[in-house]
Amino acid sequence: MPLVSIVVPCFNEEAGIATFYTVLDASLRSVAGINWEILCVDDGSADGTLAALLALAAHDPRMKIVELSRNFGKEAALTAGLDAARGDAVIPLDADLQDPPSLISVMIEAWQAGAEVVQARRVDRSHDSLMKRQTATLFYRLHNRLSKIKIPENVGDFRLMDRAVVNALKRLPERQRFMKGLFAWVGFRTVTIDYARAERASGATKFSGFALWNFALEGFTSFSTAPLKVWTYLGGISAIATFAYGFYIVLRTVFFGIDVPGYASLLVAVLFFGSIQLISIGLLGEYIGRIYVETKQRPAYIIRKIYSGPEGT
Ligand code: UDP
Ligand code: MG
Repeated sequence: MPLVSIVVPCFNEEAGIATFYTVLDASLRSVAGINWEILCVDDGSADGTLAALLALAAHDPRMKIVELSRNFGKEAALTAGLDAARGDAVIPLDADLQDPPSLISVMIEAWQAGAEVVQARRVDRSHDSLMKRQTATLFYRLHNRLSKIKIPENVGDFRLMDRAVVNALKRLPERQRFMKGLFAWVGFRTVTIDYARAERASGATKFSGFALWNFALEGFTSFSTAPLKVWTYLGGISAIATFAYGFYIVLRTVFFGIDVPGYASLLVAVLFFGSIQLISIGLLGEYIGRIYVETKQRPAYIIRKIYSGPEGT
């Protein structure tokens, strides 16, 4: 029987984890002809998440817990889970029941019919805030304009991946892992199924405001160098415009003499080009910062302990 690994990144999910487990376990039991393992990654939770997971694992030999040494963020937690998963197929799943476990059986069917990736697309995001939906749409539009690697809109980390796909992901050596982009980058035969995204069962989202902004920057810079190249053209256009304007000023001076006032236009031009330069330097900084982090070659996550089996060993 094929082994299916469910990978669950958990960060401060104490309140909802037991309910999540009950729903997940029931969904898995309803799928005929598979073995499974539930691999929970405790991403340095500060609440009782680990204790709650251990209590569940005490009764379920199919549950395995990877405890990270601190909070490394969802992308790293997911990476840790994918590295530890042994399944013939691997399914990352959020611990807040926003990714419905009932979809797993549909995914497995599609996988057994030959798909290597079965991705779940959110057709109804009415439970996410308007702001989140709009910024998400903007991100996908802009990203897919800039990058050759297209990230499908409204598709999250919730998907089934064949062992071949997971192995391909494991070969990508980068430390800063923008998973949505990496998933798209590796390719493979992909099938999409639709679902309505539910509300978070309990607790609060860990991604808001500035965190999402940084996440979006990570996406742009990981998969496109267009933000770096655009300055050549902007600079070229403004150089041509400046040359034309200079020519005009020279002619005007020759024919009409020197016109002393010009304070406003001078100041506007100086400030404008000053800001443009700062923006372009800032963008360079974004990329250089990422190069710097990559060159240090620190691992994406550190494991404190792996618990597997009912003895909690
Ligand atoms: N998560 C994690 N580490 C973090 C933040 C989140 O492992 O630093 C997990 C979290 O426990 C959940 C999943 O990632 O299982 C998705 O997080 P969340 O529901 O907050 O994101 P949203 O659904 O709002 O995008
Ligand atoms: Mg969520």
